This record gives sequence, structure tokens and C-alpha cells, in this order.
Amino acid sequence: YAPLTPLSFIERAAAVYGDRAAVVYGEARRRTWREVRERCVRVAAALAARFGVARGDVVAVLSPNVPAMYELHFAVPMAGAVLCTFNTRHDAPMVSALLKHSGAKVFLVESSLLDVGRAALKRLADSEPGAASIPVLVTISDDAGQDSGRAADYDYEGLIKSAPSEFDIRWPADELDPITLNYTSGTTSRPKGVVYNHRGAYLNTIGTVLAYDITPIPTYLWTVPMFHCNGWHLPWGVAMQGGTNVCLRHFTAALIFDSIARHGVTHMGGAPTVLNMIVNAPAADRRPLPGTVRVMTGGAPPPPRVLAEMEELGFAVYHIYGLTETYGPATVCAWMPEWDALPAEERARLKARQGFQHVAMEEVDVKDPTTLESVPRDGEAVGEVMFRGNTVMSGYYKDITATKESMAGGWLHTGDLAVRHRDGYIQLKDRAKDIIISGGENISSIEVESVIFSHPAVLEAAVVARPDDHWGETPCAFVKLKDGTIATEAEIIGFCRERLPHFMAPKTVVFEDLPKTSTGKTQKFVLREKARAMGSLTKIGN
Ligand code: ATP
Repeated sequence: YAPLTPLSFIERAAAVYGDRAAVVYGEARRRTWREVRERCVRVAAALAARFGVARGDVVAVLSPNVPAMYELHFAVPMAGAVLCTFNTRHDAPMVSALLKHSGAKVFLVESSLLDVGRAALKRLADSEPGAASIPVLVTISDDAGQDSGRAADYDYEGLIKSAPSEFDIRWPADELDPITLNYTSGTTSRPKGVVYNHRGAYLNTIGTVLAYDITPIPTYLWTVPMFHCNGWHLPWGVAMQGGTNVCLRHFTAALIFDSIARHGVTHMGGAPTVLNMIVNAPAADRRPLPGTVRVMTGGAPPPPRVLAEMEELGFAVYHIYGLTETYGPATVCAWMPEWDALPAEERARLKARQGFQHVAMEEVDVKDPTTLESVPRDGEAVGEVMFRGNTVMSGYYKDITATKESMAGGWLHTGDLAVRHRDGYIQLKDRAKDIIISGGENISSIEVESVIFSHPAVLEAAVVARPDDHWGETPCAFVKLKDGTIATEAEIIGFCRERLPHFMAPKTVVFEDLPKTSTGKTQKFVLREKARAMGSLTKIGN
């Protein structure tokens, strides 16, 4: 049998849909599937011939969503190598640490990030003088066909031009061969490396295409960074359908609306922060949508108010939940077409359950983390979400201890707490690390945040535990207000007390910008530190 691999998607796209636009970028750049495949093969040939890239070698990339970044999702595996994409907001010390950890042989850096890339390489060289393991630098310049002009660099376009014309694609010898090495977001700790294999990537792509209705011929707008696992299955998924990728180097609400109208976008992705940006766009930045645009969002809890406003604008929202460790999306909350025919009351009940997850791409359960017993399906008992199956990672790269911990009993322990409802739906409560325990009661920070979000002046909110001498912990909210609005601490607290049991309402509200990872996740550990530094609100014995 032939191993399952996403490489078959681009082969098919070039053979069957060869003349269709595969990648569109800016005003002038448009390449067909035949052209993109040809370029990918040449890059693979150059990696092998110029740099001796062999099966299993790691090729690292630091780049925004430019066409070359898209091509590398195919070109690197075509060379039999493992693609490793870095977060574009990492600084030089982090990039250097990840280059070292990944053991990358070649490092491709887009021109706007060259300073970080060079500084990271220098750091690596300084830390290991004389080491043979310093990767070769290749620059990706934004202008097609232009060399970077730096004599010492290899240039992506130059490599394509001078590549050997003959090259046999290195199909995986085994479908469990690695295809990508993906680092987690680093929301709770240092990023951990997760290895994906060809089979898992192939199956997750099919699952995503089905769950997310990526049909019939999608025009996909890249508003998720391609370096992030939310993005990974989509390069392959769009190829599978012979659709068009609209690449955006950076995005603003105006650019998003403009690209949707100009290219007839049918699908896009976006972290909750991107959705927030869209619903808060000033009228001058908005354009009418050419049709329904399906948006996949997740990675952090999207506020229900933002989801509802997106739907009012004409977007169909697919709320996903997943982890790097599950190849990205693992469960989806989507509106079922047959629900349209239900009575209004039932439709309203189902709408209110936005965020309940029901379409699972792998075996999912909510379990007691110690006994691994499933929690009762009563909507009350809290357990840990666990996965197993073809699209669950086999382990962390070079970290046996962390692998053993997270895969205990053969299930991936996600660290996320949830309840299971009678009909099987899973409702996420919180990350175990983010849950607040006040006076012995568990408080889901997500539930408190969604109430604060529904306040009209609030743009963003995050709730963390503040240590307390009497209660143990109390909820402390960090809030960013919309431009030109005013709200006081007492008002936000009062607003929550009207809508939540009193113990759940924040006792402290701080107005400031929220620290974020580049994928739009709030770094609660930073806020937790701030709340800890505030000390106890209740002073016992004073
Ligand atoms: P690190 O593991 O490095 O600390 P991270 O956990 O953010 O970072 P990712 O794999 O990018 O790494 O994110 C997975 C986590 O994101 C999940 O475990 C969950 O806590 C959160 N998450 C993802 N989707 C959702 C969602 N729809 N609602 C709530 N939380 C979500």
C-alpha cells in the first residue's frame, strides 16, 4: 500500500486542477496549482542538492503568511524532510533555543525578520563555537524573482531558479514518518515540540475539510498565522480541494474586508482576537460580504457576544477546540443544517449552546485524571478532556518525561477541564491552571470573562486568581475598554454580580492592555503574577 500523505493533495491539485489559481498575493501575484507544484519540487531539489538535506532532517522557517511560506508546507516534505515553523513574534533568544532544540539543518527567514534570524544564528554559534550544527540561512524576499542582494545569503527565489530540473519526490517510506515539528504556543510554559506524521496530517486534513465544510472550491483567506497548528492542516486542506489561498502578510480589519470582497473569499480562520477586530471595525473599513464566509475560530475561548456579532455580519462561525498535540482542531461546534427546520424556541436553545463541542475528529472523553474513569454525562461533574486516536501526537520531541506525563494511560491529558452533557456534548470550563478556587468553590474564568465581555464598553477581558487570606483566591479581572468608552471598577463588579452568583463576580478590576501570545492568546501567567503581587484583598487580623 502507499503511505497516506498530504503530498498526494498537491499532486492531485496540479494534475486535476492545474490551471486554477492556487496562491494569490497582493495586486499582481497569482500562481496556478501547476506552477506552485513545480516551484515546490524545485525547492525540494535545491534543499537536497545544495544543502544535502536528507530524509528526516529538520528545515526551520520564520516567516509571515507569504506565498513561499505556503509552498514550504509541501516543498520540505517533498525533500523527505520535516518542516518546523517558528512563531514570528519570538525573539532571538527563543528562536535560537528552538533552532538548537529542533536541530534544524536549514533555516529560511523572510526578509522582514532577518534581524531576528541573524541574531538567533549568532547566539547559537556563540553558544557552540565550532559546532557543525549551525543551520544554513536562506532568505525569503517578498518580491518574486529578486535576490536579497546579500552575497552571503542563499535566496529562496535564487534556489528555485538554479535548482536541478530533475528530482524524484521523496515519498514517505512509512506513513508514520514525521512531516512537521510544531512548537506549542507557550501560553503556560516554554513551547514544547510536537511531531506530526504523514498519516495523522492526512487524516486531520480530511477531518477538517469535512467538519469545516471546506467545499466545493474554497477561496481561503489566511488570517491565521501559517506557523501555528490552527493553520497547518489548512495548507493541505485547500490543496485537497484545489481551492485558492489568499495570502496576507499582515492583517487589519480593513484588509480582511477588502480581501473578502475582492477575491470572493469563502473561508477563513481567525483567533478570537481577529474576530474581535472584525466586529469592532469602524464603518469606513467594512465592505459587504459577497456571500456567506465560513470562519473557523478557536485556540482560546471566543466570547459569545463576538460570535453572535460575527453571525449578524453574515459570517458562519465554526468554533473549534484543539491543541497542538491533536494536530490542531479536535472538536468542532457547528450549526447543523437540519437545525434550521426546528421550531424557533429549539433553535434559540441550540444557538445559546455556542461553545458546546460535538463533532470530534478523534476519540474524545472527559475523565477523572487519576482513575481515567469517564465522568457522568450530567452536565455537572467536571473532568479532564482526553483524546486518543490517529491524530493525537505520539510524543514531545526529545522530551520523554513530558511525553509520559501527558500520555499516561494511553490518553492525551489536555489539562483542560470540562463537563459532559447527557447528549454527549462537551462544554469546556477552563484550563486546569486557570480555574479559580474561592472559598472552596471552583470558578471558571471563561464563564466570568464571557459576562464581562457582554458589557458594552469592554473590548477584552481576562480573569485570574488573586491570592486571598480568607477565601484562598478571589477572581481578579483585567479589562481593556473600547476606545472612547469609560467604565469604573464598581460598575464592572456590579454588572457581574447582576448576572453571576456573587462568589463568581470579580472582586478586583484592573484596566490595562492584556499581554498576548502571537496567536492572540492572553498570557494569563503574566496576569496571575500581577495579581499575586497585589497581595490579599482580605486582610485577616487587621
Ligand atoms: P503551551 O502548551 O505551550 O502552554 P498552549 O496550551 O496555548 O501553549 P496550544 O496547543 O496552542 O498551546 O493551545 C491549546 C490550548 O488552547 C488548549 O489546551 C486549550 O486550553 C486552549 N483552547 C483551544 N481552543 C479553545 C477553545 N475553543 N476554547 C477554550 N480554550 C481553547
